[in-house]
Amino acid sequence: MRFVFLGLPGAGKGTQARVLSERLGIPQISTGDTLREAVQEGTALGIEARTFMDRGEYVPDGIMVRMVDERLHDADASKGFILDGFQRTVPQARALEEVLGQAGTPLDAVVQFLIGDVTAIRRIIGRSTCPACKRTYHQEWSPPADDSLCDADGTPLEKRSDEDALTVKRRLAVYREQTQPLEAFYAERDVLRAVDAEAPVAVVSARMFDALRDVL
Ligand code: ADP
Ligand code: AMP
Repeated sequence: MRFVFLGLPGAGKGTQARVLSERLGIPQISTGDTLREAVQEGTALGIEARTFMDRGEYVPDGIMVRMVDERLHDADASKGFILDGFQRTVPQARALEEVLGQAGTPLDAVVQFLIGDVTAIRRIIGRSTCPACKRTYHQEWSPPADDSLCDADGTPLEKRSDEDALTVKRRLAVYREQTQPLEAFYAERDVLRAVDAEAPVAVVSARMFDALRDVL
């Protein structure tokens, strides 16, 4: 099964991708996590990507398409995958369509998580992330049991470098300019499933499963 998750930063794509990944036993592929690892390791990709990420802008399509094409060839993706954060532009969507079309494995569904700007900003400003397992927490809605440590592995949680108020606003604007057109792109292909994501995590999960019931 092959899924793409769409939605504003903070919509809960990562949170719900983890739930679906655990249920279906297919990998969650987060391009944001892969890029942050490259930044951490100081690779050439990381050094180039960081300048865009810290400004709240997108990393160029050529880099992203190569990165995802390689990842989809890994053995664990052969049974299916959840793409969380890719694609974000129409050229990326066309490139993915071509790669999957050649392999005869089209997308089953594109799930769009819907939230308003105010919720997006509150969710991102309050988010902290475990650098080891990538779980996210929220200071108001899902705080870790022990102050600032990951519940799963005890690693100190971190704030991302693109989570300040100014960068978040830029990211919302970039989403509107470059990612919103994908809604029409996928609606035309009849794979788009909208989920109202302004609700607690468990409620959004139930809505997601309901929206996908005919393909699961
Ligand atoms: P995205 O991957 O779309 O950027 P995340 O899954 O990282 O979003 O979620 C953003 C923040 O909001 C995280 O701190 C997460 O814990 C929190 N969060 C996610 N879904 C919900 C929800 N339904 N209700 C409240 N907080 C949520
Ligand atoms: P995320 O973790 O999904 O919020 O992504 C964090 C940042 O990584 C984004 O703001 C972009 O700078 C970059 N990024 C992640 N995925 C993509 C993509 N598909 N295309 C371009 N840039 C991306």
